[in-house]
Amino acid sequence: MRYTSTRGQAPTLDFEQVTLAGLASDGGLYVPERWPTLSAEEIEALAGLSYVDTAVAVMRPFVAGTLEDADLRALCAAAYGRFSHAAVTPLVQLDHQHWLLELFHGPTLAFKDVALQLLGLLFERFLSTRDTHLTVIGATSGDTGSAAIDALAGRAKVDIFMLHPHGRVSEVQRRQMTTVLAPNVHNVAIDGSFDDAQALVKAMFNDAAFARRHHLSAVNSINWARLMAQIVYYFYAAVRLGAPGRRVAFSVPTGNFGDVFAGYVAAKMGLPIERLIVATNVNDILHRALSTGDYSCGSVVATAAPSMDIQVSSNFERLLFDLHGRDGAGLAAAMHRFEAERRLAIPAGMLAANRGLLASARIDPDGMALAMRRTVEEADMLIDPHTAIGLAAARGAGLPEDVPVVTLATAHPAKFPDAVERATGRRPGLPRRVEGLFEREERYDTLPATLQAVEAFVSERAMAAA
Ligand SMILES: *Cc1c(COP(=O)(O)O)cnc(C)c1O
Repeated sequence: MRYTSTRGQAPTLDFEQVTLAGLASDGGLYVPERWPTLSAEEIEALAGLSYVDTAVAVMRPFVAGTLEDADLRALCAAAYGRFSHAAVTPLVQLDHQHWLLELFHGPTLAFKDVALQLLGLLFERFLSTRDTHLTVIGATSGDTGSAAIDALAGRAKVDIFMLHPHGRVSEVQRRQMTTVLAPNVHNVAIDGSFDDAQALVKAMFNDAAFARRHHLSAVNSINWARLMAQIVYYFYAAVRLGAPGRRVAFSVPTGNFGDVFAGYVAAKMGLPIERLIVATNVNDILHRALSTGDYSCGSVVATAAPSMDIQVSSNFERLLFDLHGRDGAGLAAAMHRFEAERRLAIPAGMLAANRGLLASARIDPDGMALAMRRTVEEADMLIDPHTAIGLAAARGAGLPEDVPVVTLATAHPAKFPDAVERATGRRPGLPRRVEGLFEREERYDTLPATLQAVEAFVSERAMAAA
């Protein structure tokens, strides 16, 4: 499989190159040259397979030419062997129509583990035959940082520097990052906001000499391999609920549009998805874009579902590429307008093409809290704020009663204990696999929010410089 940039100018790459590159050199995002498809018989044949075997069958066309089946299976077995549930992503039934797809059984309690555990292994494998030492740099408001650190800790030929805003991530989230003491993990608390941390990361990538010297790389959800790994659980869940003979709907708590885009790819591959519900909180740019075509940035409001507190969703560009008929030059012009004016009008005709598949909803804090309480009352279960937004959107979607609706449960409630307790009066306990988190030694450095300070720190610590 070859990969092409959404802006049409960067060279096409194979799977290995696209995994290591992250962003395309023309500022676009990489997508497969065409969407591979699975026939109804092939989808039917997934019904009895384990998660790992499903992963191999679904991802095979995307890695063709780079990884053999046996290699891909070994990587998946290692990545998903670290999950605490034998089904990896189990389905839990709430009532006759609604299910949760629990994506939080990985090491750091959020769905990002599903993709990042595999990505860490892919990095290690692709670097093993190269004379390159990679420096992964990222900024985090919580979940991505801990999942990326867990995935890369102790891996050969790669350092990870993770910037978080000092004092502005939850204690669970901070400890999940700072108690990882592997020598290639470097936690930095930035004296500033998340936006300051993110701006520093961008500035390091834009410092061409610095980026080249340290072989900078990124693990945010613009990386194609992450999206690819997330396609798998749509198939895994849908066949268990009767696909391809029965259509299934999904509701997806959305921030950067990565997770729900993976569902869109599953549909393009032939999975009969009745509806994909893009669930947003009050930071509702995607809901406005999909329902009215108004893709315009406001300012971010902090909520109890911080991983959805986003204005610009980077992966939305991948959908826009398809909506523009895969015309890279046309999309590049539109994206440059968007970057300059912070707004873009999406023509109604473009949205109409996907109106049957894509729907959206905006859930306010009351709707979120109500969904958390209702799940306690009706199913005796605690759910996290992000999942609650997805479930509220699923219940409000008005789908026919015979369509099963799966809400993606993107984080374990113990990751957001204060918000869960505020809504339900119950405080979720930490699962066994993260017990001891509050007793472990922490290690991190605190730096001022200046490019000079952070670059000096990276240069001193990164092995590539040695
Ligand atoms: C990252 C995250 C999301 C949003 O996922 P996107 O792929 O960015 O849309 C939702 N919920 C949780 C808990 C997350 O960590």
